[in-house]
Amino acid sequence: VEGDFPDPSTLAWDAATGLLPAIVQDADTLRVLMLGYMDRQALQATREKGQVTFYSRSRQRQWTKGESSGNVLDLVGIETDCDADTLLVLARPRGPTCHLDRTSCFPDAPGDFLAELDVLVADRERERPEGSYTTRLFESGVRRIAQKVGEEGVETALAAVAQDDQALLGEAADLLFHLQVLLRARGLGLGDAVDMLRTRHR
Ligand code: AMP
Ligand code: ZN
Ligand code: ZN
Ligand code: ZN
Repeated sequence: VEGDFPDPSTLAWDAATGLLPAIVQDADTLRVLMLGYMDRQALQATREKGQVTFYSRSRQRQWTKGESSGNVLDLVGIETDCDADTLLVLARPRGPTCHLDRTSCFPDAPGDFLAELDVLVADRERERPEGSYTTRLFESGVRRIAQKVGEEGVETALAAVAQDDQALLGEAADLLFHLQVLLRARGLGLGDAVDMLRTRHR
């Protein structure tokens, strides 16, 4: 386990059911993915397998998320809330967590996709898959990526001045994406720029 893991004897297991609710959060994007329940055995199985395992109340048995779909949740760590009656499970999903083929069982907030895309951009930088536009950008070097950001910035400005909202949205999207790639090419993430933004807010 990369992160923390609670001592089971310190947890406030529900007296009637022996269960604790377990909120699963993506360790990289911090997006809430799903809610499940764990008993002591499920918590132990989660630690041993390194894959998030619940007690399914409907099926009344232990259930490793992804056991049939393959969309397992690789464990990163587990935190508890202030009174230790809720688990916060940090994990890396191998595919869509919701059985309806969505990233999360819950609706996404406006910033969520940018965080997901930032993880994808970091994957591309590391793995450099062939035929990927993002790979080609990384291989072209920081100067070329920086030039693209400059171009997209100018295009965004021109579209706004021309009062063409469709063009403005398209150019703004291009600008955000190329900015993410530029930050990553310098070893930084969008989150680092957001952190800077937050310090300015105070
Ligand atoms: P899986 O664990 O992904 O192999 O899915 C097995 C079954 O568990 C699915 O057919 C659903 O009935 C249920 N299931 C899977 N993912 C979820 C989820 N995120 N929330 C609730 N039920 C789920
Ligand atoms: Zn609580
Ligand atoms: Zn779901
Ligand atoms: Zn453009």
